[in-house]
Amino acid sequence: MEIKDEIISYIEIYKKYDMFQQNVALKMDELVISIGCFYCLDQKQCWDDRADKVDKKGDYCIKICQHCQTIPIENLWIEDCISSDLVGPSGIKLFRSETPPGEKFKALEHYIIKQNPELIQPCFTKRVAVGINKKEKIYNLDLEIKKIIKTCTQSILLYMGNVQSTIEVLKQFHLNMVCFDDESNKHTLLCEEIMPNHFMYIVIKNNSTQKTKNRFGFYNYQRFFLDIQIDIFEIKTLNYSAQHLCNRIRNEPPEKNINEIMKLFESTT
Ligand SMILES: [Zn+2]
Repeated sequence: MEIKDEIISYIEIYKKYDMFQQNVALKMDELVISIGCFYCLDQKQCWDDRADKVDKKGDYCIKICQHCQTIPIENLWIEDCISSDLVGPSGIKLFRSETPPGEKFKALEHYIIKQNPELIQPCFTKRVAVGINKKEKIYNLDLEIKKIIKTCTQSILLYMGNVQSTIEVLKQFHLNMVCFDDESNKHTLLCEEIMPNHFMYIVIKNNSTQKTKNRFGFYNYQRFFLDIQIDIFEIKTLNYSAQHLCNRIRNEPPEKNINEIMKLFESTT
């Protein structure tokens, strides 16, 4: 029980870090709940020294875990081995039963990441294709949006050259920029794969507002305060985690973690 509590206390610390460590921690929670024996982490095996034996079979041996298996002590031996760097039947590291909980925590983390490689910090390179920041009072919204889209299109074509995905992305651009009232639409991430491991990543921060004005009591007209920041990057993913993240943005807009994902891609140069 003490081992379990200590492992859980390390997991709780992970939950205070960034979203990647939090996700690892959540998966570890699920795993820890399912573990019955914390001496062997349910591998039903552990290793031990063969210190008293001098032969070529190695200095270690694998034994059945006597904490969760009821087997006479003389029948615990499974096999001799050269190294103590061993993995159990379900892929979790084998331990000596008195190994400190910190090492077991690390082994569980390693196992979770091996099973879910998308959980680690994404690794990528980034090149800025275009950055547009417009803050002004305007009356003809459509015209301004057309101008912005034209600038973006030119940059996208210049840097990415992929016409089909560009057209798709620009359709979304327009929808996004004419939307004033919907709070959830203020920040948007768009992502398109332009080549394998190569993405076009677009961040739109739209804080524009509109007001209906009345002229001489005769007719109403719209006045807009355009406040838009658009950044387009070219991203080359360098590990599976980054690849997974870009594909996730492509396939489902990441409403929940949008600010964290934006921070992640923006902070890295
Ligand atoms: Zn056990």
